[in-house]
Amino acid sequence: MKTLLIDMDSVICDLMTEWHRRYNEDYDDNLSVEDLECWQSEKYVKEACGKKIYEYLDQPGLFLNLEPLPNAINVLERLSRKYEILIVTSSRTYAYTEKEKWVEKHLPFIGARNLVFTHRKEMVVGDLLFDDAPHNLIAFSETGRKAVAMNYPYNRNVDVDRVGSWLEFETLIEKFEMGERT
Ligand SMILES: [Mg+2]
Repeated sequence: MKTLLIDMDSVICDLMTEWHRRYNEDYDDNLSVEDLECWQSEKYVKEACGKKIYEYLDQPGLFLNLEPLPNAINVLERLSRKYEILIVTSSRTYAYTEKEKWVEKHLPFIGARNLVFTHRKEMVVGDLLFDDAPHNLIAFSETGRKAVAMNYPYNRNVDVDRVGSWLEFETLIEKFEMGERT
């Protein structure tokens, strides 16, 4: 059975909408993920905020209450019947517990036992990585394995396969015939 490594933030969970909502409310701005042409969020926020944009990621309850992205749950449920699924996520110190609880609540068929906290996703054993962060996609594909990007403006220059939704990801996986030995 093949193993799919699946990122959490901005792939399974909609981090950006809630993160930006909190920032926009405090700084009277209208930042959205479509504005982010690169990974450094501090470049797109008001000067008064700057790197404080990352402090929102340490607010209690942020990660616990994120919404799943459309079809993430049902596609993962289908894929979990055919593949080993590991959720691979880099985490802020305070988010570890909230991420575990989120997985237990929304993805009980995967469960926290299949949650891997790491900043080095390319070191994890698995056949394919589905992620949005340019550095993860690049490092993983450099190991010779397939990386698939969830499409966002900030990763569009990364030369990997990309999809715009979970349904597209499911179709792509079927195309790869990851379940078949070739
Ligand atoms: Mg991510």
